[in-house]
Amino acid sequence: MPDTETPGALVLVVEDNPANMMLVCDVLRRGGFRTAQAHSTNEAREQIAAAEPALILMDIQLPGEDGLSLTRALKAAPATSHIPIIALTAHAMKGDELQAREAGCDSYMAKPIDTRSFAAFVADFLSAPVRNS
Ligand code: MN
Repeated sequence: MPDTETPGALVLVVEDNPANMMLVCDVLRRGGFRTAQAHSTNEAREQIAAAEPALILMDIQLPGEDGLSLTRALKAAPATSHIPIIALTAHAMKGDELQAREAGCDSYMAKPIDTRSFAAFVADFLSAPVRNS
């Protein structure tokens, strides 16, 4: 659920691994963002309907429907196609980035995240005047 105590843009983190979720949200909050959490694509859909995020961080590997499938659905829907999505994947494998971009992800990052630069990366991404899809 959204954290409404702190100011800042709302970032939805879609991640099924509890440790990764905690780490990413902690880093984002320290960077001044509000965070919402989804551990599955169903939860992500509920969160997006409840409060539109400024950005989605999308784990690709999820149980059941994966992050690429949800990305395709969000990018195909007029109500959500404008929401930027950064793919997060555990495997820095060749082809992962291409797959993520073909699904409609606006950017891509291999896990583990760099906790010292991650919030700045997200802030820079949100302030970029032009995004290429
Ligand atoms: Mn995962």
